[in-house]
Amino acid sequence: MLRIAVVYPELLGTYGDGGNALVLERRLAWRGMDVEMVEVLLGTPVPEQCDLYVIGGGEDSAQLQALAELRRGTGLQSAIGRGAPVLAVCAGLQILGASLTDREGVVHAGLDLVDATTTRLDRRAVGEVVAVPRAELGLPTLLGFENHAGATRLGPAALPLAAVDQGVGNGDGEPRGEGLVQGSVIATYLHGPVLARNPALADLLLSRACGRTLSDLADPHEAAARAAMQSRLSRGRRRTVSTAPLG
Ligand code: GLN
Repeated sequence: MLRIAVVYPELLGTYGDGGNALVLERRLAWRGMDVEMVEVLLGTPVPEQCDLYVIGGGEDSAQLQALAELRRGTGLQSAIGRGAPVLAVCAGLQILGASLTDREGVVHAGLDLVDATTTRLDRRAVGEVVAVPRAELGLPTLLGFENHAGATRLGPAALPLAAVDQGVGNGDGEPRGEGLVQGSVIATYLHGPVLARNPALADLLLSRACGRTLSDLADPHEAAARAAMQSRLSRGRRRTVSTAPLG
């Protein structure tokens, strides 16, 4: 029985991020595997012994509240310490880092579980993202939607999850990186939810949680949905290029 913790969904669940847990649960059920979804609600400590942890995005105030709540406990910290797989999205990524800056310019210490610091972008990043994942992950192109004001700089212990082809991603200059990988943590700015848009990423997390390769689900609808989105995005890009001012 695989236990998946969904961390503070009341605070961290913008842009459908709750769907990530649903995707994980479904992909296990379709393979006939038992799963227990553990919703960790506010006021409850994060359990140390789950097999996989999912943390979503959130508004600035909600993410600071979640950070304060997480700081009170040690469950997530211990889980990451023992190498449990974690997916953190947007605000989730930011609070796992060393520090984050709010809109008033106040710097808040993060959980310091990954080597990343978040400051502010000059302009909020909103839109579709296409990014090419690190080769060693063996994942196809990542597709998703970003909406954030944070700019995240990675330190040497964290590697970018992907190279941005379209969109902003971490927003820390060139080359444009998206998200991060550090030990058992995979973090990303992508919503969508990211695991519905990128089922191979869901399977990577699940195979790490199970400690073995999982059977292929080969869903034609899934492949068609991704192909349609990719073609829509490349048409949008061609349009942008053709209407760019000359000179
Ligand atoms: N509040 C954070 C920011 O704007 C995170 C946003 C999010 O999770 N989508 O950068």
